[in-house]
Amino acid sequence: MNPSAEPLPPVRRVVIAGGGTAGWMTAALLGKLLGKRLALQLVESDEIGTVGVGEATIPSMRLFHELLGLDEAEFMAATQAVFKLGIRFDGWKRPGEQYFHGFGTTGRDHWSAGFQHFWLKGMARGLAQPYGAYSPETTAALQNRFAHLPDGALNYAYHLDATRYARYLRGLAEGWGVQRIEGKIAAVHRGGEGGPITALQLENGARIEGDLFVDCTGFRALLLGETLGVGYEDWSHWLPCDRAVAVQTRSVREASPYVDVTAHPFGWQWRIPLQHRVGNGLVYSSREMSDADAPEVLARHVEGELLAAPRVLRFRPGRREKAWVGNCVAIGLSSGFLEPLESTSIYLIQRAAIRLAQMFPAGGVRPVDADEFNRQMGADVEHVRDFIILHYHVTQRDDSALWRNARAMAVPETLRRRIQLFAETGRVFRPLDELFAENSWVQVMMGQGLTPAAHHPAADLMGDAELGQFLARLQQQVAQQVARLPAHQGYVERLCAPHRPPG
Ligand code: FAD
Repeated sequence: MNPSAEPLPPVRRVVIAGGGTAGWMTAALLGKLLGKRLALQLVESDEIGTVGVGEATIPSMRLFHELLGLDEAEFMAATQAVFKLGIRFDGWKRPGEQYFHGFGTTGRDHWSAGFQHFWLKGMARGLAQPYGAYSPETTAALQNRFAHLPDGALNYAYHLDATRYARYLRGLAEGWGVQRIEGKIAAVHRGGEGGPITALQLENGARIEGDLFVDCTGFRALLLGETLGVGYEDWSHWLPCDRAVAVQTRSVREASPYVDVTAHPFGWQWRIPLQHRVGNGLVYSSREMSDADAPEVLARHVEGELLAAPRVLRFRPGRREKAWVGNCVAIGLSSGFLEPLESTSIYLIQRAAIRLAQMFPAGGVRPVDADEFNRQMGADVEHVRDFIILHYHVTQRDDSALWRNARAMAVPETLRRRIQLFAETGRVFRPLDELFAENSWVQVMMGQGLTPAAHHPAADLMGDAELGQFLARLQQQVAQQVARLPAHQGYVERLCAPHRPPG
């Protein structure tokens, strides 16, 4: 209800501040859906540029592309993308040990109990192969194979070039009516003390007025943080890293369809291969390594020629207390940042952009919409936060204060309960709208070294011979399916070839 009963001013003009991944994803989605009805403008500054990282994604990105009606091969050619089937974790349980977090499902669940219960019993009896041998995604990834399979039998995402992705989305968004304005925002005007945002003042004197403002200005959070003063909830007591150093290198081998993340005493390292180059970086704690040392340490840990000088980025893990306040909605880094270990930031941008489109306040901005948006986004971010903390907390590493503290810290209650339930019973439950499914939690919890003390009695209904046959059949099906797949790199090249410029 609008208590004053005065009609709310309708929202006809939307101004998106910032043209990184967040700005252009939001612009493209709103343009596609509402471009004919709204005046949509996006302001970005070439001088400031974008954060320039953020290249690994998760399978939900395909839904976003479906909403936009994108042609996959065209998108992949434009962004030098390759397929991603999961993440290979090296040294996270302890130095020298690896595990894989694959997309999709592993084995076959029974209605009463997940596949892990049958596998745990099989392992105890010496009847089972490593967990990943029952996952088509993990098996294909580790053999560098890929193809589209009927019925989505291989679940996948992409590695992409972030700068090209923003450019590609820009082309689409402009086609759907979004007007791009180049310029540096010098001031943000409000309609009186505590009033809504009314306009962005650019350095060149232009004034961009709007009814609704989307803050996609990155870590600066110019509108929601600096102008509206919305506070920041700091989660560094759970997530110890506050720096990253990134560099691109020339490819020296075929692109793998997975991200490599390697734990180090100071934090961890990523390697994201694309068609034309590799994105690399270290995520570290400034208490464990200085910014002066980080570029050199990174250079020592990568392969292939460096294509530019390494760049250090500072961040504070956490989130804005609210993402939507008044007529301003923050999407992307302006709304918070959790480290990129599970490639979740672009996913959170997608969720926020879709929610804004679903709750679009055409008839006027109402606190009830903002509250609902904040509640839903809050739940998503906390779920992702718990999943990332899991990787630090459940480990046997003790080679630096970072890992020793992470092992000893008190984790959020939601995560503590989940870990305890799995440790005692092998069970994982997933509320319907949570991002990470049971299979993700199981792979990471077991990979990090948490072996449940028990399995479900349903697994005991099978005798050893039957269980052995069941597991062997599943594993053979996966092995045969994967053996028929082509090499990943060649498949990508053939897919993208029709979209390459001639010559
Ligand atoms: P930015 O890219 O910083 O864009 C901000 C925009 O605002 C720019 O266009 C800038 O010019 C504009 N701007 C700012 N101030 C002004 C001003 N005064 N006037 C005009 N324009 C202005 N995410 C993933 O999903 N997967 C990953 O693998 C991943 N890896 C990451 C690795 C690191 C080290 C970091 C830091 C992040 C990573 N992310 C990842 C997150 C991802 O990079 C971001 O979520 C994504 O790029 C969105 O950024 P953004 O658009 O919010 O901000």
